[in-house]
Amino acid sequence: MTTDDHAREVAHRMTLAEAASLTSGADFWTTQPLAEFDIDAVMVTDGPHGLRKQQADSSSITLAGAIPATCFPTAVALASTWNEDLLHEVGAALGAETRAEGVGVLLGPGVNIQRHPLGGRNFEYFSEDPLISGTLGAAMVRGVQSRGVGASVKHLVCNEQETGRTTMSSDVDERALREIYLAPFEHIVRTAQPWTVMTANNRLNGVYCSEHHLLLEDILRGEWGFEGVVISDWGSVYNRVAALDAGLDLEMPANRHADAEVQAAVQDGTLAEARLRASAERMIVLAERTREARRAPDVADLDAHHRLAHRAAAQAAVLLTNDGVLPLEPAQGARVAVLGDFARHPRYQGAGSSQVTPTRLDDLVTSLRERWADDVEIDWQPGYADGDAAAELRQNAVAAARAADHVILAVGLPDGAEAEGADRPDFALPADQLQLINDVTAVQPHTIIVISNGSPVDLAWIDRAGAVVEGWLGGQAGGAALADVLSGAISPSGKLAQSIPHRLSDNPAHIGWPGEARHVRYGEGIFVGYRYYDTYEREVAFPFGHGLSYTRFEYSATAEVDSDGGITARVTVRNAGGRQGREIVQVYARHGHADVQRPVHELVGFASVELAVGEESCVDVRVSPRQLSYWSTVAGTWVVPAGAMTLEIGASSRDIRVDVPLVLPGNGVRVPLNEYDTLSEWLADPIGGALLRAEWGLADGAPLPPPLDDDHVLKLVGTTTMAKFAYFDMGIDRAAVDRLLAAAATEHP
Ligand code: BGC
Repeated sequence: MTTDDHAREVAHRMTLAEAASLTSGADFWTTQPLAEFDIDAVMVTDGPHGLRKQQADSSSITLAGAIPATCFPTAVALASTWNEDLLHEVGAALGAETRAEGVGVLLGPGVNIQRHPLGGRNFEYFSEDPLISGTLGAAMVRGVQSRGVGASVKHLVCNEQETGRTTMSSDVDERALREIYLAPFEHIVRTAQPWTVMTANNRLNGVYCSEHHLLLEDILRGEWGFEGVVISDWGSVYNRVAALDAGLDLEMPANRHADAEVQAAVQDGTLAEARLRASAERMIVLAERTREARRAPDVADLDAHHRLAHRAAAQAAVLLTNDGVLPLEPAQGARVAVLGDFARHPRYQGAGSSQVTPTRLDDLVTSLRERWADDVEIDWQPGYADGDAAAELRQNAVAAARAADHVILAVGLPDGAEAEGADRPDFALPADQLQLINDVTAVQPHTIIVISNGSPVDLAWIDRAGAVVEGWLGGQAGGAALADVLSGAISPSGKLAQSIPHRLSDNPAHIGWPGEARHVRYGEGIFVGYRYYDTYEREVAFPFGHGLSYTRFEYSATAEVDSDGGITARVTVRNAGGRQGREIVQVYARHGHADVQRPVHELVGFASVELAVGEESCVDVRVSPRQLSYWSTVAGTWVVPAGAMTLEIGASSRDIRVDVPLVLPGNGVRVPLNEYDTLSEWLADPIGGALLRAEWGLADGAPLPPPLDDDHVLKLVGTTTMAKFAYFDMGIDRAAVDRLLAAAATEHP
């Protein structure tokens, strides 16, 4: 008997009460066991960038005192690597630690969209772009699950803010929902089959996500073929009967009270028995799938994981600007002032359920001292702190800067500024740090500034600095990784997975942020991040995809349309500079004509290449037809328009190096005309136009019959729907309209 057959048989043999008990946890972190059926409890634990396993007591939530685990770079940092293989490796390491601790499911990755810079959990999410989020999320899921434990992709869906996260309705139009917010989940479900998916706390268009039938049953399971367990976010089920009916399987944490309601609902016919037993079956499959991991836990190699965290953080750092001061290779005996509390006490993760107790913690000052040993004198000054000492600390830091040959200044968002449960109150760095930047750069214009943050900050001061490195919240090895980048041990290669705006008010989601009266309207629709900035030609501080290097890359490329209507781009990159380095190749589609509004271009593929000096390499980037499509709300499916478009290959969304014009065959999806489409729309449609002309008996190229041959009349009458056109006495009566409608519905181009 297969696992599925066995699970089905058991789920149907147990009582309704037993089945109902499986649809809620046993406590905060484990599922309900049923010994008589040999069903074990499965432990689930946060996620997403490290394991947060609470010590001993599972009956409540505590954030402190989790068992030590590797704190990998946060998702925002991992995304800047654009490196699928690396994400797979990190996932596998997370999976190994999960398994080593007897945990069955890791609660991550998070693939919500960085819609607005102030989102309190942006650091737990990858990008403003769904392709990056989906591709990297899928790699991570595959990695985690390669160790025989499950991942939980969260939070489905439209949980892009913390303000009102349990009460707000994210009001999103269908295209934006499909093209932007659901897309990462869809990609991960279709390509990596995560064992579980976690619903979001919020409502989607008025309905709680855990009770959203269209979302869970129709789209997630029906369209995408999800086979695993749907878990609620903690405390987000208000009516378990409605939730089960909508497609949820597991309410977390434990809520024994609702078991009886579920049983009663089946008995009185409100909830189909088959629905309950299907959830019980999935819970049994999950327990079976994780059994081997409980029986034979991994031994996690924490030293190797620290090295991996280090490598990942080094690839994640983004060099924003550089006047030549970097890499910093100080002469023997030079004095380097390393300023800022974060240089010694790093900011490396955000607050909330993702908070890991790291196994080790590298800081920048110690790492630079190790690297430069006795050759260089390092003077560390904290520069800022809460409270009265601020002015004195600043003066000491400025004095150290004045006396030094080189200055590195570490700034960032303070602990607690980026936390689950609250959005950031403002865009700027703290005032005392801004003052310090001002004072230090006044005495040392080539100051190297390193920022630690989980989401973009206001960079209005950037021209004062010699170089700026975005270090993100880089995990437990982030300090050592920054030392590698600053000292030139490696060349920076991270690229922004989000745009950095000049002002918050430039952000397209800012109107209406963060909502009111329990609703937040996603009024920008599909124009999220660079889709807005690039289409509407808005200046930004740094564009999507930006990131400098210590070396230089040259591009050449060709591309061709594949037999399935997708595209393969062949990109040759040459390292034309003086150092080894990694380049991230970005491929955008500049769309041709479509019947709907589209962003001027969209990321449709990416790859990275590591190149020695002078080396050249060719990568194939495959673009699927889906990447070229838009969601048609009229046809209710994905449409790839036929016709001319341009494939753009480059180093950021605003640094396109090669344009390749192509003609797409399209995917043949055509929205059939109906009687509420206008005469003009019928005439513009190849099939509708041909049918009308045939009805009038017009030869090819012949003008329309009078008075429609007069442009002004055509403009006026063209607005008439076909349903009413019969009344205009122009040779098309009601019977003809019916004939046209029938023909238009069946004809294919
Ligand atoms: C968070 C989830 C997390 C869960 C368990 C919730 O508050 O939104 O991301 O996995 O708690 O800690």
